[in-house]
Amino acid sequence: MDRDKILLTPGPLTTTLRTKLAMLRDWGSWDAEFNEVTARLRRSLLAIIHGQETHVVVPLQGSGTFSVEAAVATLVPANGHVLVLDNGAYCKRAARLTTLMGRRCSVMGFDEAQPVSPTALDERLRADASITHVVLIHCETGAGVHNPLQPVAEVCAAHGRGLIVDAMSSFAALEIDARKTPFDALIAASGKCLEGVPGMGFVFIRKAILDACAGRSQSLAMDLHDQYTYMEKTGQWRFTPPTHVVVALAEAMAQFEAEGGQPARLARYVSNYQALTRGMAKLGFKPFLDPAVQAPIIVTFHAPADPCYDFKTFYAAARARGFILYPGKLTQVETFRVGCIGAIGPVEMEQAVHAVALALQDMGIASGAPAL
Ligand SMILES: *Cc1c(COP(=O)(O)O)cnc(C)c1O
Repeated sequence: MDRDKILLTPGPLTTTLRTKLAMLRDWGSWDAEFNEVTARLRRSLLAIIHGQETHVVVPLQGSGTFSVEAAVATLVPANGHVLVLDNGAYCKRAARLTTLMGRRCSVMGFDEAQPVSPTALDERLRADASITHVVLIHCETGAGVHNPLQPVAEVCAAHGRGLIVDAMSSFAALEIDARKTPFDALIAASGKCLEGVPGMGFVFIRKAILDACAGRSQSLAMDLHDQYTYMEKTGQWRFTPPTHVVVALAEAMAQFEAEGGQPARLARYVSNYQALTRGMAKLGFKPFLDPAVQAPIIVTFHAPADPCYDFKTFYAAARARGFILYPGKLTQVETFRVGCIGAIGPVEMEQAVHAVALALQDMGIASGAPAL
């Protein structure tokens, strides 16, 4: 069969045929028509967070991590001090890239099954005046925890510290409103909840701090201030743009807007999440997180206790039925993950659950129940 498998992962995601078809044309990077696509896309991105008054948006070639790295390099001065609120794998990645770029970095660790604590952050900032920037991962895709953006932003603002938000897996699905949530930078990418294809990220930067960012990045290619200045002046990307990714994202954006924007996207993902967890519970599976702290983006399930279980076999059996699952990313317990995002609805989620049931049958496993 040449039909694409459904991707139940945190990206790349299943995209619509319309989005895929948008990539069948060639575009010149300096061409006025292509520049207009970029300009329109940037306006639409800003509108999603109601950031027209307060922020600019700077696109960057590469996967999402490239933009996180670029944001830290562009915002944090050489003598800055970054505090990463750590409750999972993507937080650890942010801390690592900060350290590798030579910025002083401290990590505040939290339980990976719980949101980070704004109260603990408040105490830490009170005690340490040297911290200039805080990094928060909005939805920690490692376990799937929804971290408290608004209270963390308020604490940072009260202490006059910069906030950098990795909203990669939440942007366009969870509500983010720049009119009421103060942040210096917020990062997302083409291939997540906007349902474009991977290949570019974008960073919202607060206008008030933009000028001070000039010359801070030690990297040429990752300098968002330079990218911004060039794009404002010429309407073009600095260096070769990912043209096909850009036009696919513009097409995905049109579908996002037609669907009803962020509230509608969230509603569909919540339906997906409910169909998934309801069906998996019937098979005996248990989610790792308390539903109260779970974002409807990606769900971590405990591995079944049955000795016949093995992720690779399970993965292959679900794959043979057309569904791509994702391995777990937790250090302590054996788990696997199922994404709820992408151009899919609750019907596909029910089919995915059915594929999981057949996979268990293949493996001779009577129940997905974990050893608890
Ligand atoms: C997907 C994701 C990223 C970026 O990952 P890439 O593989 O570089 O695209 C960063 N942070 C979070 C929270 C993510 O979910």
